[in-house]
Amino acid sequence: MIVLLGKTEEEMIEFAKELGEAPFRGKQLYQAIYGRRVLEFSQMTEFSRALRQKLGEIACVTLTEIEKVFYSSDGTRRYLLKLRDGREAEAVFMPEDRRDTICLSCQVGCAVGCKFCMTAQLGVKRNMTAGEIISQVIIVLNEVHGVGAQPPHGTNLVFMGMGESFLNYVEVLKSIRIMAEEKGLGISVKRVTVSTSGIVPRIYDLAKESVRPHLAISLCATTEEQRTDLMPINRKYSLEELIKACRAYPLGDRERLTFEYVMLDDINDSDEDARRLVKLLDGIRAKVNLIPHNPAPELPYAASPMERILSFQKVLVDKNVAAFIRRPRGQDISAACGQLAARHQAQG
Ligand code: SAH
Ligand code: SF4
Repeated sequence: MIVLLGKTEEEMIEFAKELGEAPFRGKQLYQAIYGRRVLEFSQMTEFSRALRQKLGEIACVTLTEIEKVFYSSDGTRRYLLKLRDGREAEAVFMPEDRRDTICLSCQVGCAVGCKFCMTAQLGVKRNMTAGEIISQVIIVLNEVHGVGAQPPHGTNLVFMGMGESFLNYVEVLKSIRIMAEEKGLGISVKRVTVSTSGIVPRIYDLAKESVRPHLAISLCATTEEQRTDLMPINRKYSLEELIKACRAYPLGDRERLTFEYVMLDDINDSDEDARRLVKLLDGIRAKVNLIPHNPAPELPYAASPMERILSFQKVLVDKNVAAFIRRPRGQDISAACGQLAARHQAQG
């Protein structure tokens, strides 16, 4: 079965030619799939019944299916999706006043093993393809707004679901390039954020790309020892090397690097940690997102009390480091940061 989602317009044209059809049929397919988000050939009425049937026999748009949608009282929606091999992935839709955000997965599970993250407990099962990554966006937009309907607000994409984007670099960047094509989904790279736990060589690679999404680094600690303890990837790529790569990263005119910092009670949340963070980021055009830890019975940490987070934030802000406290979203449906682990069975 040929899966069309994930193909560029040129690849769709090639596909049409291979079918013995005129090249413009490929353009029409591209327009239907990315421009109107149509996932069924039966709904592509620009094609004759014979062509729709022929397409249906050898191809499909996507094999990703919705298994279950969880609705939070704050408007967040979590999508449990079934991929072509039966593996599960998750995406999260978060409505906001001026824009909506979709949080995407890029791997089934994750190999990085951060101690505060539920996804880590799955290990990594496999990478997702560019088509599977894009299928999350199309499925979510269709479920929220209806097939083909223009979302009333802009859509931001963040690669902060399951998986480490930079351990699936090629497919993640391919998906971003396809989604940015104006004739198709038209989601500009300026609205896309890729988050990494610190796969240093890929930071240097991203720096060389002509089309670059926004980059976020999950820092979460301020000493080598503390970071190695929380994020074992630090053994391979040390904090020192990571910060060096961040310093070398080319930023656009008004661009800043985002640093994510999960606030763990009595572990990394002291004023002293905050002061070390200020020093580490010295000279980097940075913005810090303080993420209240989302606890789970399987995880060994507690969330920092809000007064602690506020005090930590004050140390940063007093030293002119922009610092924001992330509002947890969809906690009642386990959709918040670090909670994605396809746990639907446990929840019934
Ligand atoms: N693998 C990438 C992106 C997915 S994780 C990365 O690690 O950056 C997205 C964000 O969720 C990261 O900043 C991570 O530090 C944070 N996170 C993980 N587990 C969390 C938890 N239990 N509570 C709050 N944030 C968490
Ligand atoms: Fe993987 Fe990110 Fe979770 Fe770490 S925080 S285990 S890198 S998904």
